[in-house]
Amino acid sequence: MTLSLTRVAETALLACGDEPLCAYIYDLDALAKHAAALAASLPDNCELFYAVKANSDLPILQTLAPHVRGFEVASGGELDWIRRHFPDAPVIFGGPGKLDSELAAALESGVELLHVESLLELRRLAWLARSMNKQADVLLRINLALDGVPATTLTMGGRATPFGIDAGRLPECLTWLARHPEIRLHGFHFHLMSHQLDAGAHLALLRQYFRQTRQWQEQFGLTINRLNVGGGIGINYREPGRQFDWNAFSNGLAVLVESENMQDWRIRFEPGRYLTAACGYYAMQVLDIKQCFGRYFAVGRGGTHHFRTPYAQGHSHPFFIVPREHWPYPFPRPGVEQAEITVVGQLCTPKDVLAVNAPVERLRVGDLLVFSYAGAYAWHISHHDFLRHPHPRHIYLDPQEPVHAANQ
Ligand SMILES: *Cc1c(COP(=O)(O)O)cnc(C)c1O
Repeated sequence: MTLSLTRVAETALLACGDEPLCAYIYDLDALAKHAAALAASLPDNCELFYAVKANSDLPILQTLAPHVRGFEVASGGELDWIRRHFPDAPVIFGGPGKLDSELAAALESGVELLHVESLLELRRLAWLARSMNKQADVLLRINLALDGVPATTLTMGGRATPFGIDAGRLPECLTWLARHPEIRLHGFHFHLMSHQLDAGAHLALLRQYFRQTRQWQEQFGLTINRLNVGGGIGINYREPGRQFDWNAFSNGLAVLVESENMQDWRIRFEPGRYLTAACGYYAMQVLDIKQCFGRYFAVGRGGTHHFRTPYAQGHSHPFFIVPREHWPYPFPRPGVEQAEITVVGQLCTPKDVLAVNAPVERLRVGDLLVFSYAGAYAWHISHHDFLRHPHPRHIYLDPQEPVHAANQ
């Protein structure tokens, strides 16, 4: 086990009490190192923002803040949250269906750039900006046909979706913008796919963004120098040993920026999942193990109402087992050895499944199952109050403190 996993395992054991354990554990030290390494590996004209929706817990944001240039928010609620806790951090605001009140709040609070999703949104923004006597700085979010770039399992573009402006409508938007100086166009925003696991394919996608942007700049005579290439770098939940090759990507990016002559552009990345997924763990203590129609099931404390990621993505989520020796009952402890086990939670629905037919050497009731890659789109996308079970504990391992201090 790595140092980080050992620390997480020790923390989970220490956190066990009278009631079976159910907890999120976040390794903030690992998060800080990961974010610092990503930021340092980018070419000078590229910068890293964090897409807050992946995990907006305050300790996560506080850990990231020194390493990212700013935060990408996708709602008035996120904007409020970031402004309250990081009044000076650069903020960019995207997402479909923004309210007038949200656009006004963005203008009021000095959001650096708004990512506009439609011509109507442009019109409403201009109308608000005029009434507030302000200028609005924007990127246009564009959906364009993908030219030979292989699609991932989650696409927001390259086909009909509600996200961004169809590239075919761009001339209409630009004609309108030319008559509305209260809006300043700085460039374009693309976020066409998530779950990207292939560094080469991601570079090919970026090359298309670069070329398309330059072509529009020339065709329409635009004075622009900013490009947001979105997030979308994936986590390989199915084969955790084979992750996105960030080194190959960042090296390739430096070459691409030069070969495509993009050195004078400010290029922005706004990943969510790839920044925070790996720092989070969801730990559940095994309440029961049973055999049914020839299959083994482990029922854990908690479930998809806390950790919806496996169900949302349709995968069997990777986990490791932390043995716990304590057994309070006067009867034998159920367990399995060299078996395949399906892990479910406490909900009364067959959809409450976290892992399917996962091979285990030994698992006993009372042991801990610790799911890795649970730091992004995990707690924050789950339906917490279904069945009114208590919420899990949230434990943040602070780099400065020994493990026992986290167990409060
Ligand atoms: C969700 C989202 C992101 C982050 O996506 P990840 O797949 O988590 O990297 C970035 N930009 C936009 C516009 C998004 O909607």
